[in-house]
Amino acid sequence: MINIVLFGKPGAGKGTQAEFLKGKYNLTHLSTGDIFRFNIKNDTELGKLAKTFIDNGDLVPDSVTIQMLEAEVEKNADSKGFLFDGFPRTIAQAEALDAFLNSKNQKVTATIALEADDEILVQRLLERGKTSGRADDQDEEKIRNRYQEYNEKTAPLIEYYKGQGNFYAVNGIGLISEITERLSLIIDKL
Ligand code: AMP
Repeated sequence: MINIVLFGKPGAGKGTQAEFLKGKYNLTHLSTGDIFRFNIKNDTELGKLAKTFIDNGDLVPDSVTIQMLEAEVEKNADSKGFLFDGFPRTIAQAEALDAFLNSKNQKVTATIALEADDEILVQRLLERGKTSGRADDQDEEKIRNRYQEYNEKTAPLIEYYKGQGNFYAVNGIGLISEITERLSLIIDKL
């Protein structure tokens, strides 16, 4: 069983790559952003709770996010492994994930970061915002706030996972297929 954390700034291509990797490696793709958006669309309690944070480009509180993620893992008990996309985003989430997987005699096998320059990513998100319908992709101020959240709360995870000796980084700029290839070279050796 392999559990991979796909890591990177908003717009780095985590979701796009996850779509290819999940089939190739038979992994369950869990995107916390997608799960929140599904709940907002269906007007659930969780959706109502998360909406303001998401619309403003702020992180949803850890307690809510961790509980949701663990419930999703439990729902997929037969899975051959997970591809975590957009989770963890804080040290508290990373510690909770470690403890949770540990309780199942599992662990994060690898964390793989998709690296790209901020200015390229901001342009990508604004472009995506024209068709995604996502409020948090359409307003440059909200996008910048997402990067600030990333720099303050998510970037420290790089050192956290480096400390565990399972952190990898790939260049996230290039053709989608080239980037899948770069990721596959790492996953094939796990
Ligand atoms: P994403 O689709 O990954 O860009 O996530 C969209 C938004 O959902 C983020 O800007 C956050 O508001 C929220 N979100 C997604 N994943 C998390 C997480 N792990 N922790 C806190 N908030 C999250």
